[in-house]
Amino acid sequence: MTEGGQHGPFTVAIDGPAAAGKGTIGRAIAAHFGFAHLDTGLLYRAVGAKVAEGMEPVQAARGLGPADLARADLRSTEAGQAASRVAALPEVRAALLEFQRAFARRRGGAVLDGRDIGTVICPEAEVKLFVTATDAVRAHRRWLELGGDEQTVLADLRARDARDAARDLAPLRAAADAVVLDTSALGIEDAVAQAVARVGARLHGKDRL
Ligand code: C5P
Repeated sequence: MTEGGQHGPFTVAIDGPAAAGKGTIGRAIAAHFGFAHLDTGLLYRAVGAKVAEGMEPVQAARGLGPADLARADLRSTEAGQAASRVAALPEVRAALLEFQRAFARRRGGAVLDGRDIGTVICPEAEVKLFVTATDAVRAHRRWLELGGDEQTVLADLRARDARDAARDLAPLRAAADAVVLDTSALGIEDAVAQAVARVGARLHGKDRL
């Protein structure tokens, strides 16, 4: 049974580097509590894909629609790199901001995963998690999904994280009040259980107010 439907805004912000388990944890929290889930990386991947086809970045971001997010080619390494490049453009981030904020504060609860959810998109989020894992563990997980050469996958993740952490606007970093979940030490099932427990504690604490 889900627990979220009767609530007003309640935001779970999940940030962290590529392939750390944010999506798995985010989907599990959303399913458990009946919250809506938004994979914000998909927005940047869709913009990157349109730019790769020749569209101007801001136009691509402003014109984003459901069909763009449903494309089958957004999971690739190339799409990740294209996303990371357009994500460094302030005008692109600005164009995607309001949609994400509105999603975060919708009634019934929302989980968003990305890089800047707890720091920029929703600093008032009720729960902030920073999900991380060693480079080797993250590369291995991504390699299991994508195949190819594991060392190349590792190099790709490192390049993307370096770009995401170094950009001036909304860089990849943990919010001061985020709880850090290291999924290399825990394993993904335990990380999910811990995340669900933390959200549940906050949700029920709030309910008693
Ligand atoms: O999470 P995912 O790997 O799909 O994200 C793809 C890229 O989109 C990231 O490497 C990052 O550059 C960008 N991104 C971002 N802010 C977010 C989510 C993703 O800059 N909130």
